[in-house]
Amino acid sequence: MKSWVEVSEQRLAANYRLLMEAAGAGTAVLAVVKANAYGHGAAICAPVLARAGAKWLGVTDVAEGAAVREALTSEGISSAMQPEILVMSGLIGDEAGAVVRHGLTPVVWDRQQVEWLAGAVSRAGSGVPLAVHVEIDTGMARQGVRPGEDLDELLGWLRAQSGLRLGGVMTHFASSEIAGSPQTVEQAGLFEEAVGAVKAAGLQPAWVHAGNSSTVDNQGVKNFGEGSPAWLRRLAASVGARSMVRTGLALYGYCLPIEQASVSSTKEDVVRPGVEPRLQHVMTWKTRVIGLRDVRPGDTVGYNAIFSAQRAMRLALLPVGYADGVRRELSGSDTRPGGWVMVHGRCAPVVGRVSMNLTIVDVTEILDVAVGDEAVVLGEGITANDHARIAGTIAYEIVCGVRASSRLV
Ligand SMILES: *Cc1c(COP(=O)(O)O)cnc(C)c1O
Repeated sequence: MKSWVEVSEQRLAANYRLLMEAAGAGTAVLAVVKANAYGHGAAICAPVLARAGAKWLGVTDVAEGAAVREALTSEGISSAMQPEILVMSGLIGDEAGAVVRHGLTPVVWDRQQVEWLAGAVSRAGSGVPLAVHVEIDTGMARQGVRPGEDLDELLGWLRAQSGLRLGGVMTHFASSEIAGSPQTVEQAGLFEEAVGAVKAAGLQPAWVHAGNSSTVDNQGVKNFGEGSPAWLRRLAASVGARSMVRTGLALYGYCLPIEQASVSSTKEDVVRPGVEPRLQHVMTWKTRVIGLRDVRPGDTVGYNAIFSAQRAMRLALLPVGYADGVRRELSGSDTRPGGWVMVHGRCAPVVGRVSMNLTIVDVTEILDVAVGDEAVVLGEGITANDHARIAGTIAYEIVCGVRASSRLV
């Protein structure tokens, strides 16, 4: 195999338990396994998280939900012990049947979704109502129903469908990594209003949920009121529901750095540490050296000759490139150093352009490198944060971009 991802079962479970503890007693933690568990492999991460105690998993669409359900079943987790699976990003009509068949919980925000699902429940004919969660758009403007008339109308359509019941009410924050963000405060206010409207409509959701990894990490911030897990607990309790946060990236050991809302806010406003320093990276992406080559001073390396050897060098060839998720920004040129991989525990800098399926690294200083030796593309010594910094993006995009099969270690 040219490259593979090793997923640490122990670290994934430890991160989940840390997030549960940090979210606080009485707040559930939904484990997000969308996007193939952020590149880690949903089929292997979902059972680990279920065994670690996750009562809820989050996926983006119905196909992911069905695959996760099947993985849980084939791992021998009895249906009574299986987590609920929240389908967070909508559905289209012909997927409604699969929602019912696989026992998924869809997030809904418009009439058409409600009707598709009600139709599927009635066709299934089990007589068991399907729980749906309503998403409130409090400012993300991506999906969700606006509080006010639109919400009241949606609740009316929901109530009219005997095949559906309101299992939860949720929203999503746009700026949760920004300490003291006025946007979060505004979103929290709108969410309170919406939850109040649900109660006024005589509906009784079991769950009220909001917040992501940064929401939990941000608990290190002083005066974190609206939008915090504690605020969410009070809001949920006010309608007799349980509260839940939805964490993704932090499960896998990464978290965006907390930013300050304004230049006038001081360091003292941010009380570190949150959970971030205690999270453990779950993914180790490995490959093997498939070739070695000695080059002379003046030889150039790779496409467009952006790197030229200043001295005799020994180069190792790795069978991974940008098609596998090695960012092209990691290329190393004469004027700009790029990324690196770890060989025998030491840094081997990338030289020349990262190609589609191949990357060349400098192993001149590393003794006894042989064809077949392992190289760590991402893991101990070179993290997704390193890749992200060099590529000018965030760790989310790096881990999601890794295309290699995973195995538990
Ligand atoms: C992806 C997602 C999350 C998890 O976000 P992280 O920042 O990875 O913790 C939570 N809620 C919703 C609706 C999402 O789409």
